[in-house]
Amino acid sequence: MGIKTAKFGGSSVADGIQLAKIKEIIEADKDRRYIVVSAPGKRFDGDSKITDLLFMCKAQADHNIPYEQLLQVITDRYSAIKYNLGVDVDLDSEYETILKKLGEGCSEDYIASRGEYLSAILVAAYLGYDFVDTEGLILFDSKGRLLPEETNEALSKELAKHERAVLPGFYGSDIKTGDIRILSRGGSDVTGSLVARAVDADMYENWTDVSGLLMADPRIVDNPKPIEYISYMELRELSYMGASVLHDEAVFPVRLAGIPINIRNTNAPEDPGTIITTENSYENDKLFSGIAGKQPFTVITVYKNMMNKEVGYVRRALTVLEDLGISFDHIPTGIDSLSVVIESAALEDNLEEVLKEFEQRLHPDEINVIPDIAMIAVVGMGLVRNIGVAARITQALADGGINIRMLNQGTSEINVIVGVESKDFKKATKAIYNALTN
Ligand code: ASP
Repeated sequence: MGIKTAKFGGSSVADGIQLAKIKEIIEADKDRRYIVVSAPGKRFDGDSKITDLLFMCKAQADHNIPYEQLLQVITDRYSAIKYNLGVDVDLDSEYETILKKLGEGCSEDYIASRGEYLSAILVAAYLGYDFVDTEGLILFDSKGRLLPEETNEALSKELAKHERAVLPGFYGSDIKTGDIRILSRGGSDVTGSLVARAVDADMYENWTDVSGLLMADPRIVDNPKPIEYISYMELRELSYMGASVLHDEAVFPVRLAGIPINIRNTNAPEDPGTIITTENSYENDKLFSGIAGKQPFTVITVYKNMMNKEVGYVRRALTVLEDLGISFDHIPTGIDSLSVVIESAALEDNLEEVLKEFEQRLHPDEINVIPDIAMIAVVGMGLVRNIGVAARITQALADGGINIRMLNQGTSEINVIVGVESKDFKKATKAIYNALTN
């Protein structure tokens, strides 16, 4: 028998109807032995996620606004699920504990974690699996940073005792104090990945409400093709540039252990979804794997005659950013020029300060600022092997009358990044996608 870890997101556990689907999915494959669940998410447009309501509850408590009614809305949802599933669990005592802790001024992390906690208790009872709490197993340091190795040790030791188990996503506890700590939003994906690594799973299935990744954003490109296989590295590039389906940090634990991730759709379980795996474990004959983009960025370009002869010039420029606590995304350089590409949000109100410091420390001949740039990344292992991809991209943009403000081939050679004005973002994305798929 193999082992699969299956994580079900908020929409997959939103109500009794969704939970009946996940039961069918789990029972269809006996390898699905370790299940991680989110808190119930939205059931329909305009509905609220339980986690959001829990945060709100805590905020009300902190501001001396009565929160009992809101807590009632939350507990009513769990009671309805319990009723629909017909399971026998004592939720009332759980509700009482939460109410009491809120009254005592418990932490925000504790309250937020109760969404997953109650969800896992119900799902475990419904499936007849053991409930294994992640408190004391998913471990954090005193600064709230996840401790992956300590977590792996604690989780694998505990899970070895359980043939089949349901675990709550999103939280764990401080290794020293034992206080509950949460991951960042969407963090149940990370829990699933940590569990998959700990049980040495053959596959980490991440069940959501879409059938995997698409080669482009469907809001921009009509009917983009689905991605069947993609490497961890390509996924990282695409998700960094805005394609979101999985929490950023969810890749690392399974990647370390060489466990593939399969993104699946709870509402269309017959769809194969997307498999994310190591570079060389599948035949990649595609020109590119996907395209994604982000905006706005600001590009600051410094010109200085004979810059290439001046030792330490780039370092001085980067020290300015470091001193001001600004992170940058790219630094394309020429012999007499240097650009820094910074997410406009990261620059905030510091642009004037950056320019002043550049003047003082770099003594440039000229400085030029282009605000409002969109960065589009074309990502794929195929970019390395195929000749002329960049030419096709630039041709497509030229044909569309789109001005390229920056062009950069990443050092990993799995992406080509094009900077265009934000107003041209959608048009450019479409043009590139069409040029590379037709
Ligand atoms: N429930 C948490 C959130 O809404 C974690 C998760 O669903 O992954 O962010």
